[in-house]
Amino acid sequence: MKGTIFDIKRFAVHDGPGIRSTLFFKGCPLKCLWCHNPEGIGLCPALWYFPTKCIGCRLCLEACPEDSLSVQGEDPFYIAIDKKSCTSCGKCVQVCPTGALEFDGKEIDHTEVIAELLKDRSFFEESKGGVTLSGGDPVLQPEFAFQILGELKAEGIHTVLESALFCSPEVLEQFIPLVDLFLADFKVFSDELHRKFTGVSNLTIIRNITYLLHSGKEVLIRIPLIPLHTATNENLTAIADFLKSTGVPVKCELLNYNPLAVSKYRLLNIDNKAIEGLKPFSIEQIKTWEEIIASRGIEIVSENQ
Ligand code: SF4
Ligand code: SF4
Repeated sequence: MKGTIFDIKRFAVHDGPGIRSTLFFKGCPLKCLWCHNPEGIGLCPALWYFPTKCIGCRLCLEACPEDSLSVQGEDPFYIAIDKKSCTSCGKCVQVCPTGALEFDGKEIDHTEVIAELLKDRSFFEESKGGVTLSGGDPVLQPEFAFQILGELKAEGIHTVLESALFCSPEVLEQFIPLVDLFLADFKVFSDELHRKFTGVSNLTIIRNITYLLHSGKEVLIRIPLIPLHTATNENLTAIADFLKSTGVPVKCELLNYNPLAVSKYRLLNIDNKAIEGLKPFSIEQIKTWEEIIASRGIEIVSENQ
């Protein structure tokens, strides 16, 4: 079985317990304004141009059999990609001497993925780690995710699924026996703001989180702290009240804003005004929000403790 991924990160230490390898699936049903992995949004591999790496040699123009590339402007020099005529043949990527043209993902066979992941089995065993499926969001390629998880379980490897859980109950049901720990990303409680910030309603997500919390599986709710978007007293209090209302023990982690995505957008020449100038929060500020959540009887998981 084949799936589309954009990275395999080895020796990860923030994606679940122990030392882990994290497999990043391409494709995400949400379009968060602050997305940290823009290369993970689309399901199909796409050609990216990094203007800061381009030396203007024009080898890509000569190599393209479809005339899909053209020069825009003079100073700065810029290569434009006509995505309609591009067949993703990869000839421009092969000739580019600086890596200024690259695909943001690749189609890969499950056997190749498993072989790569099992290379670190001894580290997983030593550290009580394992493999994390992330993205994008693995729920957009459920059959490929089930295949990978099933083979990992057969090998005795601990599995984590990081997901926003925007999927049907049937898909979630099939994940449950294959996943040891769910990292459930929950961003915004107001459905109106969730639609505005992520492009989709959160009703499915709330239903799935509720179901998962009652399933008896290990679940960690993770809330990314995005200034002006998710990180407000009102939103965090509403999420805490909702989690309390489920009536079951809940663990929650607040993830500080990471400004590294800004340089990624700059490299891709994408103007993302939503994250311009945003800064991470102080430990004191995060502790204040953790106290609000803990006051509802929710267990806080934190690297600040
Ligand atoms: S991938 Fe192929 S068709 Fe697309 S721009 Fe590059 S050379 Fe042209
Ligand atoms: S081959 Fe690479 S470096 Fe040369 S013009 Fe094309 S994108 Fe720029």
